[in-house]
Amino acid sequence: MLKILRLTGISIGPLLIIGTAILPACLTNQTPAEQPIEVNTKAQFAVQTEQRFTLNGTVFHDYNGDGTKEEREPGIPEVSLNIGRRIVTTNSTGFYEISLPQGEYTLWIQYPPRGHNLQPFRYINISREEYKTIDKTILIKIDGDVIYDLALMQGFLTLPFGKDTVFTITQISSDYPLGIIHYVDRSNKEKVYMDWSGGGRTYDQHPGTDFVIKENTPILSAAPGTVLEWPFPYEVNGKNVVLIQHEAPYEKYMCITTDYGHLNEAKVKPGEKVKRGDIIGLSGKSGNWVYKQGEHLHSDLCYWQTLNPPKLYFTDPYRNTVALEWYSPGFWTRDNDPQYP
Ligand SMILES: [Zn+2]
Repeated sequence: MLKILRLTGISIGPLLIIGTAILPACLTNQTPAEQPIEVNTKAQFAVQTEQRFTLNGTVFHDYNGDGTKEEREPGIPEVSLNIGRRIVTTNSTGFYEISLPQGEYTLWIQYPPRGHNLQPFRYINISREEYKTIDKTILIKIDGDVIYDLALMQGFLTLPFGKDTVFTITQISSDYPLGIIHYVDRSNKEKVYMDWSGGGRTYDQHPGTDFVIKENTPILSAAPGTVLEWPFPYEVNGKNVVLIQHEAPYEKYMCITTDYGHLNEAKVKPGEKVKRGDIIGLSGKSGNWVYKQGEHLHSDLCYWQTLNPPKLYFTDPYRNTVALEWYSPGFWTRDNDPQYP
Protein backbone atom coordinates (compact mmCIF):
# COMPACT_ATOMS: atom_id res chain seq x y z
CA MET A 1 0.00 0.00 0.00
CA LEU A 2 1.26 3.46 -0.85
CA LYS A 3 1.93 5.86 1.95
CA ILE A 4 0.75 9.34 1.18
CA LEU A 5 3.18 12.14 1.87
CA ARG A 6 1.44 14.65 4.06
CA LEU A 7 4.25 17.15 4.01
CA THR A 8 3.44 20.16 1.94
CA GLY A 9 6.79 20.32 0.27
CA ILE A 10 7.90 21.25 -3.21
CA SER A 11 10.53 18.98 -4.66
CA ILE A 12 13.32 20.81 -6.46
CA GLY A 13 16.17 18.65 -7.66
CA PRO A 14 17.57 16.64 -4.79
CA LEU A 15 16.10 18.94 -2.10
CA LEU A 16 12.69 19.07 -0.51
CA ILE A 17 11.86 22.53 0.76
CA ILE A 18 9.45 22.84 3.67
CA GLY A 19 9.03 26.34 4.97
CA THR A 20 12.52 27.45 5.97
CA ALA A 21 13.92 23.97 6.64
CA ILE A 22 15.76 22.12 3.88
CA LEU A 23 15.83 18.33 4.09
CA PRO A 24 18.08 16.09 2.04
CA ALA A 25 16.23 14.02 -0.58
CA CYS A 26 16.87 10.76 1.31
CA LEU A 27 14.59 11.91 4.13
CA THR A 28 11.59 12.02 1.79
CA ASN A 29 11.63 8.20 1.64
CA GLN A 30 11.05 7.91 5.38
CA THR A 31 7.67 7.67 7.06
CA PRO A 32 6.38 11.20 7.13
CA ALA A 33 5.55 12.96 10.38
CA GLU A 34 2.06 14.31 10.92
CA GLN A 35 3.35 17.88 10.97
CA PRO A 36 6.44 19.41 9.39
CA ILE A 37 9.24 19.75 11.92
CA GLU A 38 10.21 23.33 12.58
CA VAL A 39 13.94 23.86 12.38
CA ASN A 40 15.22 27.23 13.43
CA THR A 41 18.34 27.22 11.28
CA LYS A 42 18.87 30.98 11.61
CA ALA A 43 19.25 30.87 15.37
CA GLN A 44 21.65 27.92 15.22
CA PHE A 45 23.78 29.68 12.65
CA ALA A 46 23.96 32.83 14.78
CA VAL A 47 25.25 30.86 17.78
CA GLN A 48 27.88 29.13 15.65
CA THR A 49 29.29 32.27 14.07
CA GLU A 50 29.85 33.92 17.44
CA GLN A 51 32.23 31.16 18.45
CA ARG A 52 35.75 32.05 17.41
CA PHE A 53 38.73 29.76 17.57
CA THR A 54 42.45 30.06 17.12
CA LEU A 55 44.16 28.45 14.18
CA ASN A 56 47.93 28.39 14.56
CA GLY A 57 50.96 26.45 13.51
CA THR A 58 54.41 26.56 11.98
CA VAL A 59 55.33 26.51 8.33
CA PHE A 60 58.59 24.63 8.05
CA HIS A 61 61.14 23.06 5.71
CA ASP A 62 60.21 19.40 5.57
CA TYR A 63 63.63 17.99 4.78
CA ASN A 64 62.61 14.37 5.15
CA GLY A 65 59.13 14.76 3.70
CA ASP A 66 57.25 13.15 6.57
CA GLY A 67 54.86 16.03 7.25
CA THR A 68 56.03 16.39 10.86
CA LYS A 69 58.17 19.20 12.22
CA GLU A 70 61.41 18.04 13.74
CA GLU A 71 64.04 20.09 15.55
CA ARG A 72 66.46 20.19 12.60
CA GLU A 73 63.71 21.41 10.25
CA PRO A 74 63.58 25.22 10.52
CA GLY A 75 60.47 27.37 10.25
CA ILE A 76 60.02 29.54 7.16
CA PRO A 77 59.38 33.28 7.71
CA GLU A 78 57.26 35.53 5.47
CA VAL A 79 55.00 32.79 4.14
CA SER A 80 51.52 34.16 3.35
CA LEU A 81 48.63 31.90 4.21
CA ASN A 82 45.36 32.76 2.51
CA ILE A 83 42.58 31.41 4.73
CA GLY A 84 39.11 32.10 3.48
CA ARG A 85 39.39 35.81 2.67
CA ARG A 86 42.01 36.54 5.30
CA ILE A 87 45.77 36.58 4.95
CA VAL A 88 48.21 35.81 7.73
CA THR A 89 52.00 35.86 7.44
CA THR A 90 54.47 33.71 9.35
CA ASN A 91 56.90 35.43 11.75
CA SER A 92 60.68 34.95 11.91
CA THR A 93 60.27 31.43 13.34
CA GLY A 94 57.67 30.36 10.79
CA PHE A 95 54.81 30.66 13.32
CA TYR A 96 51.38 31.98 12.40
CA GLU A 97 48.18 32.54 14.37
CA ILE A 98 44.72 33.67 13.34
CA SER A 99 41.34 33.87 15.05
CA LEU A 100 38.43 32.66 12.94
CA PRO A 101 34.76 31.84 13.36
CA GLN A 102 33.82 28.18 13.34
CA GLY A 103 33.50 26.84 9.83
CA GLU A 104 35.19 25.25 6.85
CA TYR A 105 37.98 27.10 5.11
CA THR A 106 40.31 26.65 2.20
CA LEU A 107 43.93 27.39 2.89
CA TRP A 108 46.33 28.41 0.18
CA ILE A 109 50.02 29.19 0.51
CA GLN A 110 51.96 31.96 -1.17
CA TYR A 111 55.74 31.78 -1.12
CA PRO A 112 58.08 33.47 -1.87
CA PRO A 113 56.61 36.88 -1.00
CA ARG A 114 56.04 39.19 -3.96
CA GLY A 115 59.21 40.87 -5.16
CA HIS A 116 61.50 38.33 -3.51
CA ASN A 117 63.69 36.29 -5.77
CA LEU A 118 63.70 33.23 -3.55
CA GLN A 119 63.52 29.57 -4.47
CA PRO A 120 59.85 28.64 -4.38
CA PHE A 121 58.53 25.49 -2.78
CA ARG A 122 56.64 23.10 -4.98
CA TYR A 123 55.03 20.63 -2.61
CA ILE A 124 53.14 20.60 0.67
CA ASN A 125 53.58 17.44 2.65
CA ILE A 126 50.36 16.76 4.51
CA SER A 127 51.69 13.54 6.01
CA ARG A 128 54.01 10.67 5.20
CA GLU A 129 51.14 9.29 3.07
CA GLU A 130 50.17 12.42 1.20
CA TYR A 131 51.69 15.39 -0.57
CA LYS A 132 50.19 18.05 -2.83
CA THR A 133 51.55 20.67 -5.16
CA ILE A 134 51.71 24.07 -3.54
CA ASP A 135 49.08 25.61 -5.86
CA LYS A 136 46.41 23.27 -4.50
CA THR A 137 44.21 24.39 -1.64
CA ILE A 138 43.81 22.51 1.62
CA LEU A 139 40.44 22.22 3.33
CA ILE A 140 40.52 23.04 7.04
CA LYS A 141 37.60 22.57 9.40
CA ILE A 142 37.60 24.81 12.44
CA ASP A 143 35.32 23.70 15.25
CA GLY A 144 37.78 24.26 18.08
CA ASP A 145 41.30 25.59 18.56
CA VAL A 146 43.40 24.02 15.81
CA ILE A 147 47.16 23.55 15.47
CA TYR A 148 48.07 23.06 11.82
CA ASP A 149 51.74 22.80 10.92
CA LEU A 150 52.52 23.04 7.23
CA ALA A 151 55.41 21.09 5.75
CA LEU A 152 56.85 22.59 2.57
CA MET A 153 59.20 20.76 0.23
CA GLN A 154 60.87 21.70 -3.02
CA GLY A 155 60.68 18.25 -4.60
CA PHE A 156 58.62 15.22 -3.65
CA LEU A 157 61.38 12.61 -3.55
CA THR A 158 63.40 11.41 -0.59
CA LEU A 159 66.33 9.03 -1.00
CA PRO A 160 65.31 5.45 -1.68
CA PHE A 161 67.40 4.05 1.19
CA GLY A 162 68.02 4.70 4.87
CA LYS A 163 70.71 6.80 6.51
CA ASP A 164 72.76 3.78 7.58
CA THR A 165 73.25 2.73 3.94
CA VAL A 166 76.80 1.82 2.93
CA PHE A 167 77.79 3.52 -0.33
CA THR A 168 80.46 1.16 -1.53
CA ILE A 169 81.99 3.54 -4.02
CA THR A 170 82.48 6.39 -1.54
CA GLN A 171 85.00 4.13 0.14
CA ILE A 172 86.99 4.27 -3.08
CA SER A 173 86.62 8.00 -3.64
CA SER A 174 84.80 10.79 -1.81
CA ASP A 175 84.01 12.31 -5.24
CA TYR A 176 80.96 10.07 -5.47
CA PRO A 177 78.24 11.58 -3.25
CA LEU A 178 75.67 8.99 -2.21
CA GLY A 179 77.59 6.40 -4.20
CA ILE A 180 76.24 7.84 -7.44
CA ILE A 181 78.22 6.51 -10.37
CA HIS A 182 75.78 7.40 -13.16
CA TYR A 183 73.27 10.21 -13.43
CA VAL A 184 70.67 10.61 -16.20
CA ASP A 185 72.09 11.29 -19.67
CA ARG A 186 70.73 14.75 -20.50
CA SER A 187 71.97 14.78 -24.08
CA ASN A 188 69.52 13.89 -26.87
CA LYS A 189 72.37 13.31 -29.27
CA GLU A 190 73.53 9.81 -29.98
CA LYS A 191 76.88 8.84 -28.54
CA VAL A 192 77.04 12.17 -26.69
CA TYR A 193 76.37 12.14 -22.99
CA MET A 194 76.27 14.66 -20.16
CA ASP A 195 75.09 14.60 -16.57
CA TRP A 196 72.99 17.33 -14.90
CA SER A 197 76.04 19.21 -13.66
CA GLY A 198 77.57 19.31 -17.14
CA GLY A 199 79.96 16.50 -16.25
CA GLY A 200 80.37 13.04 -17.68
CA ARG A 201 79.10 10.86 -14.88
CA THR A 202 76.63 8.96 -17.05
CA TYR A 203 76.63 7.00 -20.27
CA ASP A 204 74.78 7.32 -23.55
CA GLN A 205 71.00 7.24 -23.01
CA HIS A 206 71.19 6.18 -19.36
CA PRO A 207 67.67 7.12 -18.17
CA GLY A 208 68.07 6.96 -14.38
CA THR A 209 70.41 7.35 -11.42
CA ASP A 210 72.76 4.57 -10.26
CA PHE A 211 73.54 4.45 -6.55
CA VAL A 212 76.33 2.03 -5.71
CA ILE A 213 75.23 0.48 -2.43
CA LYS A 214 75.87 -2.77 -0.64
CA GLU A 215 73.84 -5.72 -1.86
CA ASN A 216 70.62 -6.44 0.08
CA THR A 217 70.28 -2.85 1.28
CA PRO A 218 66.61 -2.14 2.08
CA ILE A 219 65.15 0.02 -0.71
CA LEU A 220 62.52 2.53 0.35
CA SER A 221 59.70 4.20 -1.54
CA ALA A 222 60.89 7.73 -2.40
CA ALA A 223 57.34 9.11 -2.16
CA PRO A 224 53.85 7.84 -1.25
CA GLY A 225 52.09 5.94 -4.02
CA THR A 226 50.70 2.70 -5.43
CA VAL A 227 52.75 -0.21 -6.78
CA LEU A 228 52.11 -0.90 -10.48
CA GLU A 229 52.69 -3.87 -12.73
CA TRP A 230 55.90 -3.42 -14.77
CA PRO A 231 54.39 -2.34 -18.11
CA PHE A 232 57.25 -2.77 -20.53
CA PRO A 233 57.71 -5.75 -22.83
CA TYR A 234 61.43 -5.81 -22.13
CA GLU A 235 63.44 -5.91 -18.95
CA VAL A 236 65.22 -2.62 -18.65
CA ASN A 237 66.36 -3.03 -15.12
CA GLY A 238 66.96 -6.71 -14.69
CA LYS A 239 64.85 -9.30 -12.96
CA ASN A 240 63.18 -7.46 -10.12
CA VAL A 241 61.82 -3.99 -10.63
CA VAL A 242 59.37 -2.18 -8.39
CA LEU A 243 57.35 0.53 -10.13
CA ILE A 244 55.42 3.05 -8.02
CA GLN A 245 52.80 5.52 -9.20
CA HIS A 246 52.66 8.94 -7.53
CA GLU A 247 50.27 11.85 -7.71
CA ALA A 248 50.67 13.97 -10.85
CA PRO A 249 51.19 17.68 -10.26
CA TYR A 250 49.47 18.83 -13.45
CA GLU A 251 46.48 17.62 -15.45
CA LYS A 252 48.67 17.28 -18.50
CA TYR A 253 50.25 14.29 -16.81
CA MET A 254 48.48 11.08 -15.83
CA CYS A 255 50.97 10.31 -13.15
CA ILE A 256 54.58 10.31 -12.10
CA THR A 257 56.33 7.02 -11.50
CA THR A 258 59.52 6.01 -9.79
CA ASP A 259 61.09 2.62 -10.32
CA TYR A 260 63.79 0.70 -8.53
CA GLY A 261 65.77 -1.85 -10.48
CA HIS A 262 68.24 -4.72 -10.20
CA LEU A 263 66.65 -5.80 -6.92
CA ASN A 264 67.50 -9.12 -5.32
CA GLU A 265 63.99 -9.22 -3.98
CA ALA A 266 60.79 -7.19 -4.32
CA LYS A 267 58.90 -6.82 -1.04
CA VAL A 268 55.67 -5.37 -2.48
CA LYS A 269 53.12 -6.49 -5.07
CA PRO A 270 51.20 -4.56 -7.74
CA GLY A 271 48.17 -2.82 -6.23
CA GLU A 272 49.77 -2.26 -2.83
CA LYS A 273 49.77 1.26 -1.40
CA VAL A 274 53.07 2.45 0.00
CA LYS A 275 54.00 5.29 2.29
CA ARG A 276 57.13 7.35 1.93
CA GLY A 277 60.03 5.37 3.32
CA ASP A 278 58.30 1.94 3.27
CA ILE A 279 60.64 -0.94 2.41
CA ILE A 280 59.80 -2.08 -1.12
CA GLY A 281 62.71 -4.43 -1.83
CA LEU A 282 66.33 -5.40 -1.31
CA SER A 283 69.04 -4.09 -3.62
CA GLY A 284 71.02 -6.42 -5.83
CA LYS A 285 73.60 -6.49 -8.58
CA SER A 286 71.89 -7.69 -11.74
CA GLY A 287 71.90 -5.56 -14.86
CA ASN A 288 73.38 -4.94 -18.20
CA TRP A 289 75.51 -1.83 -18.02
CA VAL A 290 79.03 -0.46 -17.95
CA TYR A 291 79.56 -1.10 -14.26
CA LYS A 292 78.50 -4.71 -14.85
CA GLN A 293 79.80 -6.59 -11.87
CA GLY A 294 78.77 -4.06 -9.30
CA GLU A 295 76.08 -3.94 -6.70
CA HIS A 296 73.84 -0.92 -7.23
CA LEU A 297 70.34 0.47 -7.38
CA HIS A 298 69.12 1.92 -10.67
CA SER A 299 66.21 4.32 -10.13
CA ASP A 300 64.13 6.17 -12.73
CA LEU A 301 61.72 9.07 -12.43
CA CYS A 302 59.11 9.25 -15.21
CA TYR A 303 56.33 11.60 -16.23
CA TRP A 304 53.42 9.99 -18.07
CA GLN A 305 51.69 12.45 -20.36
CA THR A 306 47.92 12.05 -20.81
CA LEU A 307 47.85 10.90 -24.43
CA ASN A 308 46.64 7.75 -26.11
CA PRO A 309 48.91 5.83 -25.75
CA PRO A 310 50.49 7.70 -22.82
CA LYS A 311 53.79 9.37 -23.57
CA LEU A 312 56.59 8.62 -21.18
CA TYR A 313 59.35 11.05 -20.20
CA PHE A 314 62.36 9.81 -18.32
CA THR A 315 63.20 12.73 -16.08
CA ASP A 316 66.36 13.67 -14.24
CA PRO A 317 65.57 14.02 -10.53
CA TYR A 318 68.61 16.28 -10.19
CA ARG A 319 67.47 18.70 -12.84
CA ASN A 320 64.24 18.67 -14.74
CA THR A 321 64.47 17.40 -18.31
CA VAL A 322 60.81 18.13 -19.08
CA ALA A 323 60.15 21.85 -19.28
CA LEU A 324 57.58 21.92 -16.50
CA GLU A 325 58.80 24.92 -14.58
CA TRP A 326 61.60 27.27 -15.37
CA TYR A 327 62.73 27.45 -11.76
CA SER A 328 62.79 23.72 -11.24
CA PRO A 329 66.15 22.69 -9.84
CA GLY A 330 65.42 19.10 -8.94
CA PHE A 331 62.96 16.71 -7.42
CA TRP A 332 64.61 16.08 -4.09
CA THR A 333 63.13 17.52 -0.94
CA ARG A 334 65.61 20.41 -0.57
CA ASP A 335 67.50 22.24 -3.31
CA ASN A 336 69.60 19.70 -5.14
CA ASP A 337 70.45 17.98 -1.93
CA PRO A 338 68.66 14.70 -1.35
CA GLN A 339 67.65 14.21 2.27
CA TYR A 340 67.60 11.01 4.21
CA PRO A 341 64.22 9.61 5.11
ZN1 LIG B 1 71.43 2.47 -14.35
